[in-house]
Amino acid sequence: MSDTRIDDGWALSGRPDRPEEACGVLGIYAEGEDVARMTYFGLHALQHRGQESAGIAVADGHSLMVVKNLGLVPQVFSESDLQSLQGHLAVGHTRYSTTGASKQWENAQPMVSSIGPNTIALAHNGNLVNTHSLREELGAVGTRFRSTTDSEVIVRMVDHFTQAHGSIRGGIRDAMRMMRGAYSVVMMSEEALYAFRDPNGVRPLVLGALNNGRSGWVVASETCALDIVGAEFVREVAPGELVRVKDGELTSEQAVPAGTPGLCIFEFVYFARPDSIIKDCNLYEARRRQGAALAATVPVEADLVIGVPDSGIPGAVGYAQASGIPFGEGLVKNRYVGRTFISPTQSLRQQGIRLKLNPLRHIIKGKRLVVVDDSIVRGNTSKQLVQLLREAGVAEVHMRLTSPPVVWPCFYGIDTDTQDQLIAANHSLDEVREFIGADSLAYLALEDLVESTGRPADEFCRACFDGEYPIEVPEAMRRGKLRLES
Ligand code: SF4
Repeated sequence: MSDTRIDDGWALSGRPDRPEEACGVLGIYAEGEDVARMTYFGLHALQHRGQESAGIAVADGHSLMVVKNLGLVPQVFSESDLQSLQGHLAVGHTRYSTTGASKQWENAQPMVSSIGPNTIALAHNGNLVNTHSLREELGAVGTRFRSTTDSEVIVRMVDHFTQAHGSIRGGIRDAMRMMRGAYSVVMMSEEALYAFRDPNGVRPLVLGALNNGRSGWVVASETCALDIVGAEFVREVAPGELVRVKDGELTSEQAVPAGTPGLCIFEFVYFARPDSIIKDCNLYEARRRQGAALAATVPVEADLVIGVPDSGIPGAVGYAQASGIPFGEGLVKNRYVGRTFISPTQSLRQQGIRLKLNPLRHIIKGKRLVVVDDSIVRGNTSKQLVQLLREAGVAEVHMRLTSPPVVWPCFYGIDTDTQDQLIAANHSLDEVREFIGADSLAYLALEDLVESTGRPADEFCRACFDGEYPIEVPEAMRRGKLRLES
């Protein structure tokens, strides 16, 4: 449920009750364009991927400047900031932290660093699984770290190997050979834009062209960011690929061999925007098909189908179309209550989900409802939601989830809590239903989720549902999140 992101910090346990996305990245090379302003609007389209900090770095071929801070995109940048960022290439970032202390300026991105005569700015989406060993290796050769993020490890790796190699591309290539885990990165020096993606392709990264490349190139986490800056989608950056744009010319190489395909299937359920396209699949349509599959596999007699805004809406539409039960708007979102640095009072905090969602009582009162949502992680948000609906006079609540039960934690950049905290990992279906207080509860089957993407199962990481991790997770990291007997 996209807007329960604000649970982070407000949730009863202080932990998010939804999988949390890790970041949005964007890079633009466009001579003669106001690239800072384009990046600003592109970052608006990627705001859903991270709301803790935002940053834009711009270079003009000679020097590189950055503006970044904690907060949402419109809170971070002023008109005068954008006017001061002059140049023809830019890198931008929106952040949700999965490693490193969240509310520290040093951890905001793009990260800027000197590499010999050059300065680089780097923005990362994902999570390395060998950060610890890389930090030790770099520490042993005298590298000093300023932040606690794995993104800085990438910066230091590129720095180290660039100095050894004498070329930035060679430095990136060697760094990619050493890094394990998920990384979709955009990076720039004063004169060139780079983009590279881990060999498993866990996080999305797409390439777009401005005026067929004659006016420039754009790299972004999602196609919705290409759309807003007027770039045409060209293709995805391939797993293990390194792209460079310099002097207006785009070059590409397979920097490291592609590994086991591992695109995060949760992007199709919740993380990515419904107007984005991944692997030729329109995400709105995928979510609609998920709802239709729920109607076919776990039907229920009801009067109305509602979706939990925003990510549950397409699934609810699909459920309604397939079942013949009318679709209705049953919940309105307090859209701008989103992540804020102003803490609610204790009494407001106790309002829980009411801060975010308000029921349309006259529509749902007395009805038997099918409520379509994307996932249940710990269960507290769903429990509050069911209570909210009951207090609004709903006769029956039938929860339908467009994902299978989340029973394994994520190590690749999504904050899904430890396995002990995942309600479906520790309780039967009926226990979960009872905990949330619904009349019935059903999940989408994993094969139906895969089917909704139109792609074969082996193209995806599905580990939080089936425990099959496509990238080996070091023992120490597993111990931190998995149950001991696992
Ligand atoms: S474990 Fe789950 S959330 Fe993490 S990358 Fe795999 S499918 Fe996505």
